[in-house]
Amino acid sequence: MINKELDKIISSSYKLLEEFCMGSCNARCCKEGFLRLDEKGESHFINRNPQNIIDKKENIVIFSTHPRCPFLSDNNQCKIHKNKLKPVICSLYPIKVIGDKDDVLVIFHPSCRAVYEGVLNENIRKIRALGYIVVC
Ligand code: SF4
Ligand code: SF4
Repeated sequence: MINKELDKIISSSYKLLEEFCMGSCNARCCKEGFLRLDEKGESHFINRNPQNIIDKKENIVIFSTHPRCPFLSDNNQCKIHKNKLKPVICSLYPIKVIGDKDDVLVIFHPSCRAVYEGVLNENIRKIRALGYIVVC
């Protein structure tokens, strides 16, 4: 379990992202990204869209979202947002928290437009102020 303050900042980051993803970015990562999927755990998602598989090695499947993910609606919403089918990476991206308790590293993926454009900078500053290492 991570620190409560950190938890709050991460939740607030996802809220900011929600607005930005649809309002400004138009779901870019759902149109020109790659998902790294677990072949067994995410088989239902993968098997529905075999045409999007671009590589497979051991238990990892690389899935292309180009030109748009089959689950992206015309108005840029994820049709499986609250569904078990949604890949873990889609629920977490672009934030990844590694570690536990005080030994935590927070990654804000720079390939995300919101991260790149500084939309989450204030939250990143707050996380650093708590003493955590942030990579972005
Ligand atoms: S690239 Fe980032 S800002 Fe754009 S839709 Fe994906 S998560 Fe949202
Ligand atoms: S499953 Fe949803 S969030 Fe993931 S790439 Fe497809 S539309 Fe985007």
